[in-house]
Amino acid sequence: MTHAVTLIPGDGTGPEIVEATRRAIEATGVDIRWDVQDIGVSAIEKQGTPFPQAAVDSVRRNTVALKGPLTTELGAGFRSVNVALRKEFDLYANLRPAKTYKGVRAPLGDVDVVIVRENIEDLYAGIEFDIGTPELAEVRGAIEQAAHSKIREDAAIAIKYISEMGSRRICRFAFEHAKANGRRKVTAVHKANIMKFADGLFLRTAREVSEEYPGIEFEDRIVDNMCMQLVQKPDLYDVLVLPNLYGDIVSDLAAGLVGGLGVAPGANIGEGVAVFEAIHGSAPKYAGQNKVNPMALMLAGCLMLRHLGERDAAERLERAIADVVAEGKDVTYDLKPIRDDPSAVGTQQFADAVIRRMAGG
Ligand code: NAD
Repeated sequence: MTHAVTLIPGDGTGPEIVEATRRAIEATGVDIRWDVQDIGVSAIEKQGTPFPQAAVDSVRRNTVALKGPLTTELGAGFRSVNVALRKEFDLYANLRPAKTYKGVRAPLGDVDVVIVRENIEDLYAGIEFDIGTPELAEVRGAIEQAAHSKIREDAAIAIKYISEMGSRRICRFAFEHAKANGRRKVTAVHKANIMKFADGLFLRTAREVSEEYPGIEFEDRIVDNMCMQLVQKPDLYDVLVLPNLYGDIVSDLAAGLVGGLGVAPGANIGEGVAVFEAIHGSAPKYAGQNKVNPMALMLAGCLMLRHLGERDAAERLERAIADVVAEGKDVTYDLKPIRDDPSAVGTQQFADAVIRRMAGG
């Protein structure tokens, strides 16, 4: 079966790691028709806009995209393209697996957790009121009246909102992910002891959803305690589901536990569209140098292959990446014990080693 996938090379070092990943995915033998589309700085240069309609149409048509990192400083008048993509396709679930691989320096030993972060609501919905504006005065007045509580006049205000629908669909996503991937437990992370209504709603909804999945264990943790537990006893955890802000922070904590952003994949998934990416940025200072590590995007490629139903290919690719990294010979500078190690290989040579490994070499 041929799969159609939108391929977004991205900015900075993006095109190099995307090329390395494309070659590695093709070497699995899975038949993919790549529809290459520019988004970001490269699109501004070629088409005068960072978010061309042709690229949007391609993602909508193909429903799956593999994306290189995008530079977010686009200049006045342009909004963040990552945010635009998330909004355009209502990509409500941010999937961030964090797994240690032998050969990658992980400070505290073995970790294998999947973070599911709600991507749309919470304090990140963009409902904010700046100090000194008439809108702020209006909102402050209304809140003071309704909440019988005083807000200082020199305070800015950001609104945290969490809906039942948003909580239900992200919790269902977490349980479905656990079920499809043989995971045993989902932990809902919150601060409902303090935020009884917003986080309380999230927790209550998570409990209700858990009843639809009797085969999967369910528990909850308060977010501060969760951070400590993840550092001290990561082996107790499996799939974590979190509202937006906690998810942002805890997923970077988990990435740190497995060796940093350079080795961590991610995906933004909605009802009908899924976009796979590395979680690191475009590392523009290394652009064009064939230097940076394509491992995170390759692991995102494994997530994509699983999403496409190509589990066997995903496992072969992940095993080949793990073997090359464990051997530690054909790896990029960041995976060498000393940073200036002259034996470090380039982006494409890392991909060559992964491809050789898949071929049995
Ligand atoms: P960055 O992740 O691009 O780079 C920070 C440093 O991490 C680099 O200088 C490099 O030393 C290292 N690094 C990153 N990726 C690496 C890799 N694959 N291999 C080896 N080393 C690697 O972060 P930044 O410099 O803060 O951001 C650069 C641009 O990327 C900014 O415009 C930022 O907003 C954007 N960004 C985009 C995304 C995305 O598209 N999803 C995510 C994060 C940042």
